[in-house]
Amino acid sequence: MNPGQRLKNAAKQGLKQCARRAAHCFPPAPNATRILTYHSIGHRDHEMNVRPDDFLAQMEWLAAQQCAIPLAEAAQGRPGVALTFDDGYLDNLTHAAPILSRLALPATVFMVADRIGQELVPPRSAEGKAGELSSPSGPTAGSETRLMNWEELSKLQAMGIEVGSHTLSHRRLATLSEAEQRTEIFDSKQRLEEKLGQPIQAFAYPFGSALDYTPATVHIVREAGFAYATSNRFGPVQSGDDRFTLRRIWIDGTDDLSSFQAKVRGDLDLLRLMDSYPGILARRAANALLLRRG
Ligand SMILES: [Zn+2]
Repeated sequence: MNPGQRLKNAAKQGLKQCARRAAHCFPPAPNATRILTYHSIGHRDHEMNVRPDDFLAQMEWLAAQQCAIPLAEAAQGRPGVALTFDDGYLDNLTHAAPILSRLALPATVFMVADRIGQELVPPRSAEGKAGELSSPSGPTAGSETRLMNWEELSKLQAMGIEVGSHTLSHRRLATLSEAEQRTEIFDSKQRLEEKLGQPIQAFAYPFGSALDYTPATVHIVREAGFAYATSNRFGPVQSGDDRFTLRRIWIDGTDDLSSFQAKVRGDLDLLRLMDSYPGILARRAANALLLRRG
């Protein structure tokens, strides 16, 4: 791990501690709905990667709380915790699915329909993208970062895991024309449905911050016939929230069991302030600075 990344991880830990201390003054709402976001569950040297042993400890604790619910129910505001995985890494099938299945925990995996069985970022265009820390795919492309192919995806479905759409090519929808967004959203749904033979209800905006999609994007997602959609804006789902811009709570490699529990219980809900517009801009600036140092 480079020094900039190490510094960034330390900053994240500090921020989590501050939010937990502040939570004593502003206790979280009980019976909230929380949707967790994971990416890869494996051994990649990347901040968004969660190690399988950490994941197992998190899932065993979650199963003991008896609060896990399917994303469809979370979208309706039912209290509980839903699990989601973005991008569809092969390790979701090899490392995560057996644990989820054994513990009977429902989950949803969001697939990038044009990149099935491939790397999320094609090796050539990965260059120059190292500055994009919100991208779960880094310069360490290799078999570890491959996404599931159709056959593997069918196995995942057979294990009871829901498949959702994460567009065709994982571009920032807010930067695309309306016609391009339509293609990304409509065609991804159609392709997944044709290949998997089941209706695709769930959608996740790539990158998913408030700057990565627009009201027009949300409108197209509704029009395409999805039943609900998740962003990556941090926080619990609150009553009256639009089910097409559901907030989520990311879990990454810097979360130990204690910070995972704090996130699930809502002790870190104050981190949602980071997903205000000024918060996002400050975070992007900090990311750029830290990477330059690294
Ligand atoms: Zn993604």
